[in-house]
Amino acid sequence: MPRPALAGQCRSLLVLAGQSASLPALACASLLALAACATEPPAPPAPAPAPPAPTAAPPPVYVPPIVAPRRLALCERGVVNSASDGRLFNHLPYTPVSDTALVSAPPQLSPDGSCKVHPAMLADLSRMLAAAGSDPLVAGQIRAVSCHRSYQLQNATFCGGINADESGSFAERAWASAPPGYSEHATGYVVDFGTRSPNGCPDAEACFGTTPVGKWLFANAAKFGFELSFPAGNAQKVKWEPWHWRWVGATATTPGAAAARGVFAQARTRFPATPRVEQ
Ligand SMILES: [Zn+2]
Repeated sequence: MPRPALAGQCRSLLVLAGQSASLPALACASLLALAACATEPPAPPAPAPAPPAPTAAPPPVYVPPIVAPRRLALCERGVVNSASDGRLFNHLPYTPVSDTALVSAPPQLSPDGSCKVHPAMLADLSRMLAAAGSDPLVAGQIRAVSCHRSYQLQNATFCGGINADESGSFAERAWASAPPGYSEHATGYVVDFGTRSPNGCPDAEACFGTTPVGKWLFANAAKFGFELSFPAGNAQKVKWEPWHWRWVGATATTPGAAAARGVFAQARTRFPATPRVEQ
């Protein structure tokens, strides 16, 4: 580093100049050197260290709550315990919405009025049906297969599947149907959609995803606040259900969306939907 060396030399020359005035040659050399020191531009300040490169904030890590195992008598065939993360046969627990809080879905979706949903969903659902109605590919084709399900109905659905196949286990049944107390349908925020032009595809089968209505929902439902709870190959290890859509609001500020997103917070964090609502 030349500048510290030069500064040290200049200090030495200054001392010599003050102590050895009787040595003209040395004094002259000192003065010349001092002149050189005086004309040397000051050392520029050391550059400030570069700020650390910004890094993306890490995604929040969901830590499953520690919950006491919940014992549940199932289908009069035995008692089962939920897992330490609260799930039972991979399904998350849901608190049922009060029946009195539910409303009928729009008649074009459920002409007999049997489809009951959470009222917060109605505005987005109506907008989605209007959009589908203006698309000639699916106009008038979307219908509801199943909406809110009470604990009793979910119990009958789950246990009915067990009883239809005596060789089946709870775990095998739970691949395609949630045990009572563990169904998203209990919240009122879910609709199983179907088509009025099934072309041989039964309700609630994977082929629904290839129907015009199934394709339209994949392309458009998220814009209206609906997301697919159980995508193909999901980490939750639940059967792919291209008909099962939960409502979380088209945006975070949609009335009622915050409550719905709270209900599905665990599911959305641990097992994100696809397609999903991003806003
Ligand atoms: Zn469903």
